[in-house]
Amino acid sequence: MVSSAPSSPALERYEAVIGIEVHCQLKTASKMFCGCSNGYADAPNTHVCPVCLGLPGTLPVINRKAVELVLATGVAINAETPPATRWDRKNYFYPDLPKGYQISQYDLPLASNGRLTFETSGGEVTIRITRAHLEEDTAKLIHATDAAGRRVSLVDFNRSGAPLMEIVTEPDVRSAEQARRYAEELQALLRAIGASDADMERGQMRVEANVSLRPRGTEAFGTRVEVKNMNSFRSVERAIAFEIDRQADALDGGEELSQDTRGWNEDRGSTYVMRSKEDSHDYRYFPEPDLPPLRVDRDWLAAIRGQLAELPADRRARYQRDLGLSAYDAAVIVGEPAAASLFEEARSASTDVDAKALANWVTGAYLGLLKTDPDAASRVRPGELADLVRRVTAGELSGTNAKEVFAAHAGDGSSVASIVDARGLRQISDASALGAVIDEVIAANPKAVADHRAGKPALGFLVGQVMKATRGQANAAVVQEAVRTRLDAAPDAAPDGDTAT
Ligand code: ADP
Ligand code: MG
Ligand code: ZN
Repeated sequence: MVSSAPSSPALERYEAVIGIEVHCQLKTASKMFCGCSNGYADAPNTHVCPVCLGLPGTLPVINRKAVELVLATGVAINAETPPATRWDRKNYFYPDLPKGYQISQYDLPLASNGRLTFETSGGEVTIRITRAHLEEDTAKLIHATDAAGRRVSLVDFNRSGAPLMEIVTEPDVRSAEQARRYAEELQALLRAIGASDADMERGQMRVEANVSLRPRGTEAFGTRVEVKNMNSFRSVERAIAFEIDRQADALDGGEELSQDTRGWNEDRGSTYVMRSKEDSHDYRYFPEPDLPPLRVDRDWLAAIRGQLAELPADRRARYQRDLGLSAYDAAVIVGEPAAASLFEEARSASTDVDAKALANWVTGAYLGLLKTDPDAASRVRPGELADLVRRVTAGELSGTNAKEVFAAHAGDGSSVASIVDARGLRQISDASALGAVIDEVIAANPKAVADHRAGKPALGFLVGQVMKATRGQANAAVVQEAVRTRLDAAPDAAPDGDTAT
């Protein structure tokens, strides 16, 4: 681990000590302990049954796929997997928890002692991961105002009993930036192995940060505050930076910090007290009597390890090593699953496509479109993008026209070939094919020719005339070279002279 350079004045006096808890919704077809669909985003209360409504007399059944996804996460973060685990009840009352308890894992998580390594502006950082365990999600509470103007609270049980993975780090994180980078890297990893879509805005990945300060050079941890309600990577970084400054001011003022749970207010850019922190003994955990302990067969684990997708760190390294991509391009592509699959599929559609040029189109035009118009981005086909890039590399399509073709392809899905033909955009790069046009332009512009020969800047004008005459189809670089050669080689050539090279 490297220690981060102080990013705020507070960090000159104090060192931040941060631990991160992430909850993510697992990508399974059904819920954790019943057969209901895991379609938590569907119309409210359409995926419910006696089990996930917590009715008396029902019994849970373990979702095998959910267990496999946590085991896969454990393998991906280099964690240890116990030979056997069990389930525990975490008891508390809240309207979103009809049973009055959550089935979770307490002292025997499915993964423990893992780690995650990633790049930051201050260098490479490794964060130890204490544990990853499996539990069930709560229902969703919606606080609203009804038609009569009354404040109402509504409950959507679609999410009740959905499989949830909690991943907890050691207090190894030392800055707001490291926290954001950890969350980004974890998202890329969860997406790569198919464990979760991990979209923060959609609540599929929820990040909480425990933040404390200690005077630089001391060991003992200070009082920590848990920060919740951060709905984007940017808010993670902002909220922690705010909390560091707030705690530093309080400590400087001789104030005693209290161990609170605080929420992040995105609009005000500050945290506020939600409640004072509960201790784990308040939950009265005990082994779940309705479920047997779960044995993790070594062959099962080996099969999961064997099927694990390429991890983001490995893929970034491969892109740089084998394809010559920059660290930045590799990180951008790997960080966005849609970009990564487009890049991979375009390369397999056309094996001779230039990887760096393709990477530029994916990180530039494609990701730009994904932000502004996701529907159009979804129409971009890998084979067509490969064809486009190949034509640009071969000099058959100019950069400007290629942008137009890309937009047209994304607009209605028509093929690059048909757009190029219909719009007459095939670039003329063959100097001999341009000879006649260049002759005409030189003949029609004696003043510019004279200017050029007198050493005045007129070449650009002549090139522009050729571009205009070919309706932009000529390769500008080839034209410039051809015009220059022509004027320099044959000062007195007649317009129809034959001295062109
Ligand atoms: P809880 O059960 O209250 O969530 P945990 O012991 O599981 O508490 O810790 C939650 C997170 O807080 C972990 O990521 C841990 O590394 C972190 N943490 C523990 N102590 C501190 C501290 N003093 N400052 C910052 N983070 C801490
Ligand atoms: Mg916790
Ligand atoms: Zn159900």
